[in-house]
Amino acid sequence: MDRRGFLQLGAGALLSAPTLLLADSALANAWPSRAISVLPASPIRRVAWTIDDGFSLSALRAYVDLLHANPELRQTFFVTSGSSAWAKVAPDLVPLIKAGRVQIGNHTATHPNLQHLSNRQIQVELSNCHHFIQDHFGVDERPIFRPPFGNIDQRVVKAAADVGFTAPILWYGTFASGAGVSSGTVAYNAKKWLHNGRIVIDHANGMATPGAFKTIMRMLAERNLQTVTIKDAFPHL
Ligand SMILES: [Zn+2]
Repeated sequence: MDRRGFLQLGAGALLSAPTLLLADSALANAWPSRAISVLPASPIRRVAWTIDDGFSLSALRAYVDLLHANPELRQTFFVTSGSSAWAKVAPDLVPLIKAGRVQIGNHTATHPNLQHLSNRQIQVELSNCHHFIQDHFGVDERPIFRPPFGNIDQRVVKAAADVGFTAPILWYGTFASGAGVSSGTVAYNAKKWLHNGRIVIDHANGMATPGAFKTIMRMLAERNLQTVTIKDAFPHL
């Protein structure tokens, strides 16, 4: 398909997206129509708290402690296998994965912009991370993956699907937990974005979110929101 074909597909995806999504300037991307960014309607008030990267071992250990302290908490981690922290925390996460409280997703090996890679390079990134996840967590995480930076288009969707990653998981709301962000900023963003039916993105790259854990947990309780994994909300995936 030529470039114009891509653009037409992109425009189609844009038009078919919920109006609410388009109105929100916090969403930088017009994601392809197969991308998942919200949960299906449910009588249960629920939110998917998804955590990417894992560049900070201290942060990952704080998430494990939070999970142990809150037996009802369920989270999805999108692993960047190039981060050495994952191998260190894997033994603590495996029992939580077996219990269904933690789900592991693929976030590539080296966190590149997939739109800048060839189809083959995209597949190598996903496959390398896939083998790491199998070796360290004992699960097959397919078909879910999260493209780094949310950079995805129909070509990336197809290249990923050809190696079994048919479910790109994006988000509708972010804690904006990047480098140099304060716990107060994370708490502010959590207040803004933690609502029923959302997939929210967080990052285990520093202690900003762990510093806001108490606020976030209180917010979930006050809003009567349960946390779910992606698998909880999409059992067919
Ligand atoms: Zn990332």
